[in-house]
Amino acid sequence: METLLLKVDESDEGQAALDIAAQIIKDGGLVAFPTETVYGLGCDAMNSRSARKIYRAKGRPSDNPLIVHIAELYQLNEAAEEIPECVNALAENFWPGPLTIILKKSKSIPRHTTGGLSTVAVRMPADDVARELIIRSECLIAAPSANVSGRPSPTEAMHVYNDLEGRIDAIIDAGTSAVGLESTILDLTSDVPVILRPGVITREMLEQVIGRVDIDTSILKVDDKVKPKAPGMKYRHYAPNANLIIVEGDPSKVATYINSQVREGKESGSTVGIIASDENIKRYKADVIKSIGSAEDEREIAHNLYGILREFDETDVDKIYAESFNNEGIGLAIMNRLLKAAGHQVVNADKEAITRIIFAGKNGSSRSPMAAAILDNMELDKNYEILSRGILVQFPEPLNPKIEAVLSSNGIEMEDYHAVELKDEDINSTTIIFTMEESHRNRIIDKLSRANEDNTFVLSSYVGNELEIPDPYGGSLQLYGLCYESIKKTLEDLVNILDQKR
Ligand code: AMP
Ligand code: MG
Repeated sequence: METLLLKVDESDEGQAALDIAAQIIKDGGLVAFPTETVYGLGCDAMNSRSARKIYRAKGRPSDNPLIVHIAELYQLNEAAEEIPECVNALAENFWPGPLTIILKKSKSIPRHTTGGLSTVAVRMPADDVARELIIRSECLIAAPSANVSGRPSPTEAMHVYNDLEGRIDAIIDAGTSAVGLESTILDLTSDVPVILRPGVITREMLEQVIGRVDIDTSILKVDDKVKPKAPGMKYRHYAPNANLIIVEGDPSKVATYINSQVREGKESGSTVGIIASDENIKRYKADVIKSIGSAEDEREIAHNLYGILREFDETDVDKIYAESFNNEGIGLAIMNRLLKAAGHQVVNADKEAITRIIFAGKNGSSRSPMAAAILDNMELDKNYEILSRGILVQFPEPLNPKIEAVLSSNGIEMEDYHAVELKDEDINSTTIIFTMEESHRNRIIDKLSRANEDNTFVLSSYVGNELEIPDPYGGSLQLYGLCYESIKKTLEDLVNILDQKR
């Protein structure tokens, strides 16, 4: 099949090209067209055969429904039934625009359009060419993004051409998509509206108009047990050819980590690319570095993301490292897409850098050596230097006898232990310090110039527990045994964090 490239603009030729596109849709063909979100691959929404052709052209799983695009509000009644009242307010505030709503489908929408579901996704795009195409086609247009399934969504006609040339009837070229990320999908078929896919219309914006809105919990997590409600969200998506890894953490540590990976890559003969924000771009040294825009300007990042992922396909990089972005507002949509593109590979540069773990207590002879000894006996992915220290150690006290007894009954021996005072020399940029109590943490941060809020933590709260580990001092051996169990459990959580399993 030859794919027509139709340049559409205000000129007579441009308008004639749009008529050709509309006729193709009427005749049951497939036309890729621009919208303000991304380019869509459209067909007559009521034509079951055409809908099936879309799945084939994209290599799209048949359970992943299309979005029905309308140009005027009255057309909503052709697509959906039992339309709830809040739709009026949503339409007034956000249509035409990047919001898709899920409603009960009308009888006339064929099942192929909705991937077999009894619900339908509807959106009124803001792009003039898209709306004019719907009007001239005299039908509702069903469309998913116009990419090969799994690839980054197309934000310009050439992206579509590279993916689908020879597989579809025509591509309208009318410039770059303004938004650059797919629409927000809001499910209105449950009691409380739920965001199934985040976009530039954020939860906060929706809540101002219709009150409480929930977010589908699968959006940022990888959890095979939670099934996303938008079928499309379960697939690996948006991926460039090279392996993409997201690095989160303090910007300077992120840069240190990525630059060291670039050096290692060079030694083993591989080429590494970087996606950086304008603010940090000078920190990097690599073969290919691309700026995604200012970290402060989420719209710009959203706009650039897919284009940059595709640009990397034109280079010979084997690996791409990307900075991580704030999860709030539009950031949620950006991180959702970036995480999918990376197959959820995320490195935390702050933790990656840690090489020394210090447990510190009041005098360094009770809970802190117990924690150090237990962690030393656990399996960790990386090697750490694990130490125990006291905040104030006037003489080198030996291990508390009850601690010694409990450790020993659990098969752990600490020979010749004596307490050592925590000093600034113990702490460097790769050290993390854990205390059992908030007051100990505060004293350490006060006393030592190298200890601070970023390297000194209460162990329990670091792993997300509300309760501190109890002080068994003066209690029975049994109480010391309970303390052992409590520390061990907390350290198991810590190991998961250090090994990046959570
Ligand atoms: P695309 O236009 O390629 O971004 O794909 C459309 C997206 O809308 C996919 O993620 C679909 O799973 C989602 N979608 C379409 N119809 C429904 C529906 N009835 N219920 C839930 N999600 C839907
Ligand atoms: Mg898509």
